[in-house]
Amino acid sequence: MKSFTYERAGTPAEAAASAARHPGAKFIAGGTNLLDLMKLEIETPAHLIDLNGLNLDSIQPTPEGGLRIGALVRNTDLAADMRVRKEYAVLSRALLAGASGQLRNRATTAGNLLQRTRCPYFYDTNQPCNKRLPGSGCAAIGGFSRQHAVVGVSEACIATHPSDMAVAMRLLDAEIETVRPDGTVRTLPIASFYKAPGKTPHLENALTQGELITAVTLPQPLGGVQLYRKVRDRASYAFALVSVAAIVQPDGSGRVALGGVAHKPWRIDAADAAVSRGSKPVADALFADTKTTHENEYKLILAQRTLASTLTEARAASHEI
Ligand code: SF4
Repeated sequence: MKSFTYERAGTPAEAAASAARHPGAKFIAGGTNLLDLMKLEIETPAHLIDLNGLNLDSIQPTPEGGLRIGALVRNTDLAADMRVRKEYAVLSRALLAGASGQLRNRATTAGNLLQRTRCPYFYDTNQPCNKRLPGSGCAAIGGFSRQHAVVGVSEACIATHPSDMAVAMRLLDAEIETVRPDGTVRTLPIASFYKAPGKTPHLENALTQGELITAVTLPQPLGGVQLYRKVRDRASYAFALVSVAAIVQPDGSGRVALGGVAHKPWRIDAADAAVSRGSKPVADALFADTKTTHENEYKLILAQRTLASTLTEARAASHEI
């Protein structure tokens, strides 16, 4: 690990200002991804800004009837919150599908959104990787690509976003609150937070230099039956090959978002509009423009079948509401 300087931030605005003053600075909270990346020298921050003393670890109701989740709320606490379990069950289920109990005890809400891909070539510094070293190439294209994306990919990168929580947040239309180094705050819809890989897969989200996530806000509860189904190689501590987050209402309408298939949580308006017509038109809309490899083309069938079983279960349960 490379040496670095360290500070404990006093306020979110101070943390953001410090990040702007220190080129190559990184925020650290749970550290469940960043520390691994630092040990491998994939991330080499010159300065670490510890956020753990900031008062960003509460879950509060909003005047609009939603919930404001502090950036430092641990994944375990968010999943166990009774308001989340009752009103945003898809979020609680997605959180509990992620990582392991120990990791969820440390991992934070903001850190979960910002975790990096688990593409094995990203973690292997002997391999070309445009996300780790822009312009070096992509070892996954033509390489081992069983876990990689099948939609929304580019010629530069076919990595997936690893988060389960982010898929549920996308389904719920969460908004991300930030503070910038000049002290101004802004709110970003999660729909526009993550970037497509394009030619610059190392630029993964809409945050600017030094900008710090302070909270994630959920709108009013949507009701309906809320499910999260994750298909993976083993029952725990594994990333999604495919995951489906779904909300189905008693009248048959609903919405879906997928994980494990794209560079970001994958949700398409036309797919939501098709939920009442069955899983086939939903899948057709989600996968209208795919690009697979011979190793990951199975994901299209897996996603269609996972969608079908999830929507069937949700529809049956919605009749009992
Ligand atoms: Fe790197 Fe993306 Fe290619 Fe993986 S898929 S090697 S993260 S550029």
